[in-house]
Amino acid sequence: MRSIIERSDFMKTMTCRQLGGACDMEFHAETFEEMAELSRKHGMEMYEKGDPEHLEAMEKMKELMKDPIAVEEWYELKREEFDEQELD
Ligand SMILES: [Zn+2]
Repeated sequence: MRSIIERSDFMKTMTCRQLGGACDMEFHAETFEEMAELSRKHGMEMYEKGDPEHLEAMEKMKELMKDPIAVEEWYELKREEFDEQELD
């Protein structure tokens, strides 16, 4: 079904969990960069709320960030995952 809002034709959906988070919240974005930004903002919100599952997920991401090559690989993997998603 086509949406009335034209730009949503190119939207893809990924969940918080798919992006290294801890819940099933869905993000909708046209590009992976946009998707990563939505995920990051949500992560910060949950961090401020002190959600234990997100805190744990963020700790794991922080560990990953220490290794630039691992980060690069993670990023590429997630970008591929994004590319493979069906359009909404
Ligand atoms: Zn989440």
